[in-house]
Amino acid sequence: MERNVVAIIQALDEQCISPNRSNLLFKGLYEQVITVVGQLRGFGINRNDRVAVALPNGPEAAVAFLAISSGATYAPLNPNYRAPEYEFYLKDLAAKALIVQPGVAAPAKDVAQQLGIPVIELLPRLDAAAGIFELSIPTSTVPETPDFAEPDDTALILHTSGTTSRPKMVPLSHCNLCISAQNVKTALALTETDRCLNVMPLFHIHGLIGALLSSMAAGASVVCTPGFYAPKFLGWLGNHQPTWYSAVPTMHQQILGRAATHTTPIKPLRLVRSSSAPLPPQIMAELEQVFNAPVIESYGMTEASHQMASNPLPPNQRKPGSVGVASGPDVQIMDEQGNLLPTGEVGEVVIQGDNVTHGYENNLNANATAFTNGWFRTGDLGYLDTDGYLFLKGRIKEIINRAGEKISPREVDEVLLDHPAIEQVVTFAAPHTLLGEDVAVAVVLKAGASVSEQTLKEFAAERLADFKVPRVVLFLDEIPKGPTGKRQRIGLAEKLGLTASDPTEDR
Ligand code: ATP
Ligand code: MG
Repeated sequence: MERNVVAIIQALDEQCISPNRSNLLFKGLYEQVITVVGQLRGFGINRNDRVAVALPNGPEAAVAFLAISSGATYAPLNPNYRAPEYEFYLKDLAAKALIVQPGVAAPAKDVAQQLGIPVIELLPRLDAAAGIFELSIPTSTVPETPDFAEPDDTALILHTSGTTSRPKMVPLSHCNLCISAQNVKTALALTETDRCLNVMPLFHIHGLIGALLSSMAAGASVVCTPGFYAPKFLGWLGNHQPTWYSAVPTMHQQILGRAATHTTPIKPLRLVRSSSAPLPPQIMAELEQVFNAPVIESYGMTEASHQMASNPLPPNQRKPGSVGVASGPDVQIMDEQGNLLPTGEVGEVVIQGDNVTHGYENNLNANATAFTNGWFRTGDLGYLDTDGYLFLKGRIKEIINRAGEKISPREVDEVLLDHPAIEQVVTFAAPHTLLGEDVAVAVVLKAGASVSEQTLKEFAAERLADFKVPRVVLFLDEIPKGPTGKRQRIGLAEKLGLTASDPTEDR
C-alpha cells in the first residue's frame, strides 16, 4: 500500500470529476494548502471570513476543506440544493465568497451573483504534484507569506441536519475539529496503513471528521468517492482495497442488500463504522458476517464536531444497541431540572469537552436552552449502564405526545423490526383531532413479503401497551430521508399526506 497518500483520485466511475489522475500525496496537499491560503488573502478573504463551498463529493471537496479552513472558515453546502435553499444558507452565513465548480450547483452561482457574493471557480487539475485544483483567483495578488488560521479560529461552519427543526448554524474551531478527529482515530486505532473508503457527504460532519480528518490525523489515506452509490460499493471495495468505511445505517442496509446477491468473494475489512443514526442489532450482526470485521457503532453530532461516544475495538466488548463509551468528551445524563442522574436512569444526554461548539450562531433561542451548568444538552434521551456504555432511547423532540401519554417512536420501531416481513420502519406522530397526536408507522416490506395492516397492529399489541400501538400503518416502497440519509420523523405525517381529519381508530 502506498504510504502517505491523502486521496486516491483515480476514476471511480463516470460520475467522478477527477478521472485518471495520480494519487495526491501529503506533500502535494501541503503545497495546495499554501497556495490556496495565499490566494484567499489575495482576494481579500481573512481569517474567520466565511467561504461557502458547493462542490460534489470527491477529492476536490476533501482538499478544499483542508486548504480553505487553513486560512478562513469553510462553509460547505449540499451541491443538490435548489435556489431558495442556497439563498437561505448564503444569507445565514453572510458568506464572503462562494466556490463552485463549472457546470455543478448552477443555482448556487446564480443566487450568489444576485446577492452580490463573489463567485470563485474551482478548476480540477490533472497533475496532482502540487495539488489537485486551481482557484480562479489571479496569482499576481498572492502575498508571499500568507498568515494561517489559529487554533481558536472558526475552521468550519455547518448547519445541523435539520432532523428536528430548522437547521442550526454551528461554528467549530480548529481545536474542536482536531480533538474530535483524534478521538475517532484513537477509538478506531487508525494508523498509516489504514485506508478509508469515504462514501459520506463532505458537507456533513460525519464525512469530514469521521472519515477524512480522522484519517489525516493518523497519516492514513482516503479514497474519495463521488458519494454513496449502492450498486458500485462492493466494486469500489474490490478495486481500492480500503481497510474500513464509515456510513449511516440506511447505507449499511443497502450494502447488505447488494452483498446478498454478490457473486465474487468480498474482501474482509479491518472494521466497519456506523454513526449518525441508530444501527439495528440485526444489521450489525449481518455486517459483521459479510465483512468478517467488527462493526463499531459510534454516536456523533454536528455540535460535538462529530464523535461523542464509540464502542471499543475487540478484544473489548461491543454492545449491540449501545453507542459505546464516552470517547473524549465527558458524557452524562441530566434531568429537566439540570441534575445529573445516576447509572441506569433515563434522561437527556449531556456532554462537555473541547470538541463541543461554544454555541449556535444566529439562533438566540437555541443557545438559551443549549447549555446547563456548562453541559451541552444533546436533545437525545438515554442512559448509561454500569460499564459506562450509553444506550440511546430517542430524541426528546420526536417523542409522540398522545393525549399526555409520552411514546418513544424508537421503541415502536424496534418492536416492529422484529416482524419477519418488515425491512424498514419509521414511527412518527400523526395529528389527531382529539388526542393531539397518535402513533403512525410507515413500513417497507422485505422483497416478496406480505402482511396486513391488522396483523401488524396485532403483532405490536402483543408486545406494547395499548397506547403505544400504531393506529395508522402506511406501506411504502421507500422511507423518505433527509439529505444525509437520516429518517425524519418530524414533518413526516405532513409529507405523507396524513391530516388530523384522517380516520384513526378510536380506543
Ligand atoms: P437537527 O439538530 O437539525 O435536528 P440532527 O440532530 O439530525 O439535526 P446531526 O448533528 O447531523 O443533526 O445529528 C446528530 C444526531 O444524530 C444526534 O443528536 C442523535 O440524535 C443522532 N445520532 C447520531 N449517532 C447516533 C447513533 N449511533 N444512534 C442513534 N442516534 C444517533
Ligand atoms: Mg441535532
